[in-house]
Amino acid sequence: MAYPVELLKNIDGNGYEPLVWFYNPNIYPEIEYLRRRDELIRYCDEKSYDYLIGDYEPERWRAYVDGLEKEPEKGLRCNKCFEFRLDKAAEKARDLNIHFFTTTLTVSPHKVSKNVFIAGYNAAKKYGVEFIDIDFKKQDGFLKTMQLAKENNFYRQQYCGCEFSIRA
Ligand code: SF4
Repeated sequence: MAYPVELLKNIDGNGYEPLVWFYNPNIYPEIEYLRRRDELIRYCDEKSYDYLIGDYEPERWRAYVDGLEKEPEKGLRCNKCFEFRLDKAAEKARDLNIHFFTTTLTVSPHKVSKNVFIAGYNAAKKYGVEFIDIDFKKQDGFLKTMQLAKENNFYRQQYCGCEFSIRA
């Protein structure tokens, strides 16, 4: 999250005033969810970034990806997962009269940015807002993310988030 927010604040010399939205009902188990959420809150507080925390509703997420448990990472379950979370982001943007939204999902080399963008465009269309399709992994985005994580002593996650991405 740190690198995309910094980039957005400085983009094209103008910059956005991002509101950080945390909505990750995909994260399992709850203790892992709380760990990641609290890290985000700590960092936002330190940097005086505005943020909002969405509901933790794992049952809804689980029902949404039902039948796709055996899909590999980067597969169909992940596309549905992007869809689920970006739909909520777009809805929240609309509710708050924020015209633009984007996602940090593209920073990860384990995510297919093209598929993230499709979910973003569809959600934007549904709620009448605009999706900014930035591929944050470009220009060493992932490396910069890792550097910032190290500098800020972030908790290092060992898997993407859902129970199906936990490696044995
Ligand atoms: S592996 Fe990650 S992106 Fe894919 S479904 Fe699980 S939490 Fe979502």
